[in-house]
Amino acid sequence: MIKFILEKLPMVKDFLFPKKCVDCGAEGQWWCLEHRHFLDNEGIWRCPICKIENKKGSVCSCCQKESFLDGVISFFPFYEPSPLSDLLHDYKYGFMKDLENLWYEMISKNKVFRRNDFWLEENTTFSFIPLFSVRERWRGFNQAKELTEIFLAKAREYYPERDFVVTDLLERVKKTKQQAKLKREERMENIKNAFKIKNLPQKRVVLIDDVFTTGATLQEAARVCKEAGAIEVWALTLFRAE
Ligand SMILES: [Zn+2]
Ligand SMILES: [Zn+2]
Repeated sequence: MIKFILEKLPMVKDFLFPKKCVDCGAEGQWWCLEHRHFLDNEGIWRCPICKIENKKGSVCSCCQKESFLDGVISFFPFYEPSPLSDLLHDYKYGFMKDLENLWYEMISKNKVFRRNDFWLEENTTFSFIPLFSVRERWRGFNQAKELTEIFLAKAREYYPERDFVVTDLLERVKKTKQQAKLKREERMENIKNAFKIKNLPQKRVVLIDDVFTTGATLQEAARVCKEAGAIEVWALTLFRAE
């Protein structure tokens, strides 16, 4: 019921939850410019396994055996607790869809699109980590899918001649526990066989999610994509925690 009111009556929502800076409480913005000027805009380009930095964020040769992902690219570093973790929590569990405007503003200043664009070339399928249907219905949206639309809207500004399309690639076939509440080994067990392919991928796949933490979810999704014929699978996330 509350969710319905928040979605259908934005004015009620503004009254109940006025927009306030998560840092200083100033009204009118989720996070005022003054308080997010320190954000690192270089992007994060580190091996998904050993976390060593490299030019493309690719998995290094010694880690390849352990990884289905060919690399991971993230826009911003993520710490908990922090203003960003509060904002992400409000977005995912507080139904604050307005925060998508902030994500869009934030990625506009980020260098991920300019530093390296191999992952935006032709023959790429852009997709997202799906939610289990019950959870998506409860939340009303899938944050990873919304982020995919935001990232590609930005990509179209940089490369208007290229045709970026979101494909509904994977289906979540297992009801899993929330990864954030589990330890590393438990995460891998929890997410195992959670995805099924819905549509065939192109040669390269870019899988989008909100946060890269241990990578267990994205690795499992990458495994399924490769089984379905993808040659390369990259992860693109708004935040990277590890
Ligand atoms: Zn502020
Ligand atoms: Zn490595």
